Amino acid sequence: MGVYEELGLRTVINASGTLTRLGGSRMAPEVLAAMADAAASFVPIDDLQARAGEIIAEVTGAEAGYVVTGAAAGLSLGVAACVAGMDVAAMDGLPDTTGLKNEVVVQRGHRNAYDHAIRAVGVRMIEVGYLGYPGAGGTHPWQIATAIGERTAAIACPILDTPGTVPLPEVCQIAHEHGIPVIVDAAAELPPRANLRRFIAEGADLVVFSGGKSIGGPQASGILAGRADLIASVALQHQDMDVRPQTWSWRPLLDSGHLAGVPHQGFGRSMKVGREEIVGLLTALRRFAAGSDEEDLERWQRRLEPIEQALDGIPGIRVSRQVAATKPVPSLRIAVDGECAGRRAYDLVNRLLNGEPAIAVDQSHAEHGVLSINPQGLTPDEAATVARRLREELRG
Ligand SMILES: *Cc1c(COP(=O)(O)O)cnc(C)c1O
Repeated sequence: MGVYEELGLRTVINASGTLTRLGGSRMAPEVLAAMADAAASFVPIDDLQARAGEIIAEVTGAEAGYVVTGAAAGLSLGVAACVAGMDVAAMDGLPDTTGLKNEVVVQRGHRNAYDHAIRAVGVRMIEVGYLGYPGAGGTHPWQIATAIGERTAAIACPILDTPGTVPLPEVCQIAHEHGIPVIVDAAAELPPRANLRRFIAEGADLVVFSGGKSIGGPQASGILAGRADLIASVALQHQDMDVRPQTWSWRPLLDSGHLAGVPHQGFGRSMKVGREEIVGLLTALRRFAAGSDEEDLERWQRRLEPIEQALDGIPGIRVSRQVAATKPVPSLRIAVDGECAGRRAYDLVNRLLNGEPAIAVDQSHAEHGVLSINPQGLTPDEAATVARRLREELRG
């Protein structure tokens, strides 16, 4: 009996991609073995993070890197670094930002629910641009430049394809002319693997990726990559600080006057990362980086075949394959025809979830009568089960 059955829970077949609310992704046996190995011995966490940083820097092209508990934690810690820098008193005060740089500029078309992680640092979001023409979130470069002032800690630039927003390279140029860092939320922007380096190459000072989505690392892991000085501030605000100045591993910074004293347990302490997550993430990242977008795409396309075949000839639906221009992950789009298509699509989502076995399909376009099958979390056996259940439900 599996652990979930033992707890009296039903497992779910995940046909909806790398959703956090279902657990994200499956970890490869190699990743699980590395985590078990990591748990068996003790290691200085600052040394482990420093080594992780070198590996992340190599993979991303950034100066430095850090393992965090997820992309959202990476946003919080990254912004905390932009606000406090190496100022121990400022670190001590967070999230109280009185007297500190406490504004983060963002394009209106880039606002999203994850910026809660930024606001958690005690900063205010300064919005620029429009919700509307030009594009759906039109922003002029001069609006960004004008919003930058003495209180600006950073510019937040999530990777959202809102038409009309100023693209990252141009945002970075404006920011750097004013000496302001840019922090990029690229949580779900993998694959393509080229994105591991792309945003750093385009000028980002900090970039976050989820470890538990397509990278296939532990669900509570993520990557923060970027400038070495900002990553140092992150480490100081995140690691256990129950240390003595006489023996602290970072004490050269005290001797050289770079730090006024040992920081206390910091803003990031509630986002503690275990050595198992750090090692698991590194193992998954190396595997992911060594893989191929084309091979993944082919494998995922094959996984969709039995599902597409099972739906062939069923009246009242239209089935098609989709691959987004920016993301090489295929999906099978199932459009329900006729009146009340949205309500029927939502009904179908619930019937599949409440059926035997439980199946979660992508419902992001259900209000338009569209369900999608994302193959990333499906084994061949599970794909066959999804095919059978969809056929049963759709044939009525
Ligand atoms: C998933 C996601 C996050 C949160 O990432 P975690 O690794 O789960 O913390 C943040 N931003 C975007 C755009 C995401 O898709």
